[in-house]
Amino acid sequence: MIHLLDKNLYFERQIYSMRNLVYLFLLSSGLSFSQSISNQPINVILMIADGAGLSQISAAYYYGKEEPNYSRFQHIGLVKTSASSHKITDSAAGATAYSTGKKTYNGAIGVDKDSVPVQTIVEDLSAIGYNTGLVVTSSVTHATPASFYAHVESRNLQEEIAAALVESDIDFFAGGGQKFFFNRLDGKNLWGDLKENGFEIDTLNTTNSILDTSKKHGFLLAYDGLTPKHKGRDDFLPEMTENALDFLTKKGEPFFLLVEGSQVDWGGHANIGEYVIEELIDFDKTIGVVLDYIKDHPNTLVVVTADHETGGFTLASDQKELPYKKVLSDYNTIKPTFSTGGHSAAMVPCFASGPGSDQFLGVYENTKIHAIISQLTGLK
Ligand code: MG
Ligand code: ZN
Repeated sequence: MIHLLDKNLYFERQIYSMRNLVYLFLLSSGLSFSQSISNQPINVILMIADGAGLSQISAAYYYGKEEPNYSRFQHIGLVKTSASSHKITDSAAGATAYSTGKKTYNGAIGVDKDSVPVQTIVEDLSAIGYNTGLVVTSSVTHATPASFYAHVESRNLQEEIAAALVESDIDFFAGGGQKFFFNRLDGKNLWGDLKENGFEIDTLNTTNSILDTSKKHGFLLAYDGLTPKHKGRDDFLPEMTENALDFLTKKGEPFFLLVEGSQVDWGGHANIGEYVIEELIDFDKTIGVVLDYIKDHPNTLVVVTADHETGGFTLASDQKELPYKKVLSDYNTIKPTFSTGGHSAAMVPCFASGPGSDQFLGVYENTKIHAIISQLTGLK
């Protein structure tokens, strides 16, 4: 009898410890499951401030009215931007590195260094059920956005690029560039083709209208690029980004959105400090919209970077010439200064927030951004 009790007790203990093991196993696998979920974003927002190096970003800290939204990031890295053909990249090769993960030659749009088309992240994600959008302050056919949906040998082929956008899987686009659709050198008008491919086109900026999620939407709000911010552009970039997020969220997750502050670069080329700074502050305001969005949608990864630096821009100390050729540096006066009318080779910062954002720490090549996003979204 005692023997039997002992035996029962023995079995009970065995079952108890087995239960514990199963429980521990479920608990641990459950934990790792939820951990892998929390490190994997559903949605991805890639924000590019074209031509924004560290000095341009620093300008927001000296010239902005509020603490910049850049301060809200915890995960920051540095990006090496060279093209396959040149130490200093242009925006086409720079954006193609982000969109395809391939280093290519300056001028290349969605093609590799041998001019062979490479699937873009927008095409890859569309194929697995993502809705996609892009919001820019240049023409929607300009090098940066074009690299996400077109495949042409030269960035100058903007009419071909416009035709590629019509045929693409993009669900929402906003920016300028009417002339490449409706006033083309080849005499074609793409209005009918846009309609045929399911696009509702708005050329008058009705950002507050409620968008039909069964349709695709295109906003073409300028003949070419939009008005520069320092010459009176409204809150197009932050408001249209909010509009795009609203549309894509209602249309249904998952989604990928590209937002470009296109004209930080143009201010750099023009060597106009005010132009650069106003564009950068406008972009920073847009970062605020996106970071507010991901507070309510924590399954969204946001990556904020640049394709390269433009202008060799510095926040230099002002120099005063004194008698006898002595020069005094005034450390209380910043004089925005440029060292080139082109781009520079300087690394650019990359800021990330949301699931997987810790992957963006360190110093890495621009192609790695594509690799990380592909991995996090399950493409690789
Ligand atoms: Mg650009
Ligand atoms: Zn440029």
